[in-house]
Amino acid sequence: MSQSESEAWEALCQRCGRCCYEKIEFEGEVYYTDEPCEKLEVSSGLCTVYENRHLARPGCAALTPEIIRLGVLPADCPYASRVGPCKAPHPWTGDEQLPGRRFRK
Ligand code: SF4
Ligand code: SF4
Repeated sequence: MSQSESEAWEALCQRCGRCCYEKIEFEGEVYYTDEPCEKLEVSSGLCTVYENRHLARPGCAALTPEIIRLGVLPADCPYASRVGPCKAPHPWTGDEQLPGRRFRK
């Protein structure tokens, strides 16, 4: 991705912070938990380590088209509409222990 393409991609983010809650992938479905990333300033929805996030917070996944198509973003996130049809994440009800892969964003 060129510098200008990278900047245009970054500019799509509205910094709402909704994707910065722990998610669980289980049997091909993505579940949102109510557990925010410890690097998220919940009151503002902003990442406190944004420029260095992938080093500062291992597990902060790069937002690629492939991971977006898994259904990790809210349906109205600009990235979700940009990459085409995506599954919507499900709320995690907390009444079950899901053993799937955990990740943020
Ligand atoms: S949900 Fe979308 S717009 Fe909001 S912070 Fe995450 S990537 Fe950015
Ligand atoms: S480190 Fe990643 S998941 Fe955590 S708040 Fe920053 S962007 Fe969100």
